[in-house]
Formats: sequence, structure tokens, C-alpha cells
Amino acid sequence: MADVGGAQLEMPGMPRRLFPATPSKLAAFGDCPRRYRHAYLDRPTPAKGPAWAHNSVGSAVHAALRSWWELPLPGRTPAAARQLLYGVWSTAGFRDTEQSERWRARAAGWLTDYVTGLDPADEPVGTERQVAATTERLALSGRVDRIDQRGDELVVVDYKTGRSVCTDDEARGSPALAAYVLGVRRTLRRPCSRVELHHLPSGTVAAFEHTDRSLANHVRRAEDVAADIAAATAALDGGADRDEAFPAAPGRQCGWCDFRPSCAPGRAATASRDTWSFLPEDPPAPT
Ligand code: SF4
Repeated sequence: MADVGGAQLEMPGMPRRLFPATPSKLAAFGDCPRRYRHAYLDRPTPAKGPAWAHNSVGSAVHAALRSWWELPLPGRTPAAARQLLYGVWSTAGFRDTEQSERWRARAAGWLTDYVTGLDPADEPVGTERQVAATTERLALSGRVDRIDQRGDELVVVDYKTGRSVCTDDEARGSPALAAYVLGVRRTLRRPCSRVELHHLPSGTVAAFEHTDRSLANHVRRAEDVAADIAAATAALDGGADRDEAFPAAPGRQCGWCDFRPSCAPGRAATASRDTWSFLPEDPPAPT
């Protein structure tokens, strides 16, 4: 069996190998095959654009929350959360220092409000925990922001810092959250059905209870995407044109795609954006 860029070419009589998939890998191909190729196949990796401010906000909040749970119990205070956020804050993508500092203060407010509503003694089962599961065709893996114990069940918690309040439909439809449920069940060998999106800016939680059927639907879709990736990769290995095997799918997503500098169709599809333009509404400067 040949292994080509993570895809396997099956030979008659040989057992089928599993496609190694992460939610972000499958999502990249689903959004745009060319983006997948740039991210996972092209080496050296094509030039990427600059960092985005909204990603700096999200990364800092995630890192601060992970570190907060790693503190000894008496140290898990709102003030500590603020301090942790300030310690990991990056100015990457912001217009200037003044904008970065305003957003740092705003994110610190979300974070302190959020941890104020947590019970610091309610130890998570895991934070940024790597989990994995297999299906008939996939070896799925991913990293879960937080895994809570609620009664006899484990709950997948995903932190969100984007502009929009999350909905229960998003929790139901998220391929990543479904993959995490499968991974938690397999890795931790305990029941898990509930997924939650914790949107820090609004302090809201969107949730869904997965069933065998909803998970099977997600698995089927993920396996379909993986089959398409394997076919495209095999075509590339067979000499197909790179842009035909992994065609560009220009659209709104080109506005924030990291590979825009390397992609003429993407640049033609959308105007370039300031790296801070995906922040939610900009809070006014203090007077
Ligand atoms: S810029 Fe658009 S078309 Fe080009 S790789 Fe990114 S998402 Fe695909």
C-alpha cells in the first residue's frame, strides 16, 4: 500500500488503511481543496499572510484558561485569570498598541466574568486534551478545550471568542464537536454525548446532546470528505495538474485565508482586509 500525503492507495486483497484525519484537516478540504493542498501537501508550505488580531484574542483566551485550570486550587481566581491573559497576550494583527491594549482589557473582562461563574474546585477531566477514535475508514484525532464530568457523563466544552453568539444548531452541526465526542468515548472509555459551545463575549452556552444517529451522520460526512481527499491525492500522485486535483474554491473565506498571498483566485475573489477587521465591534478608546 502506498501512502501519499496522508492518503492511502488501496491494493486488491490488502486491508483498508485508515485515513488520518483531524477536524481542521477535513474542514480545510471542505472549505477549499486548494487550501488543504497548501496546508497539508505543498512543501515547502506556501507563504502565508500576516497574523489576524481576532486569532490573537482567541489564542490568548484559550491559553489563559488552560493555565488557569493548571493553577493550584486556591490560585484559581478571576485576578489570576487576568494576569495569565496579560502574560500570553500577543499584539500580532492589531493596528497599533492602543488597539491591542483596548482588546486585552476587553478580553480580560470576558475571562474574569467567565471564571467567576465557574467552580474552581470542579476539576475538569482534561484541558486541551488530545483524544482519538477510529471509524470504518478514519483515524480521527483532535484536541478538546475542556472535558467536564457531569454525573456519570463526560461533556465536551469548546471555548468561543468570535463575534457571533453561538447557537444550539452550531453545536449540533459542528463536525469537530462530534469528532471530540467519539474521541472522548474511545480515549477515556466513558459515556459522552453532550457538547457545549461557551461563548465568552456573551457569557452564553449553546449545547447539543448527540445520539448514535447524529454521530453516524457526522461520521458518514467525514468519511465522504476523506474519500475525496484520498482521490484527489491519488490523482496528484498520478500526475494530475495540482490546481485541477485540488481546485480553488473562491468565496468569502478567501478574505481571511492564510494562503491568500499564494492564491491568485482567492485574491481576485475578495478584497484584502485589515488584519484587525474581523474583531467584533471595536470598543471605544477610554476617555
Ligand atoms: S484564498 Fe480562497 S481560493 Fe485561495 S486557497 Fe484560500 S480559500 Fe482557497
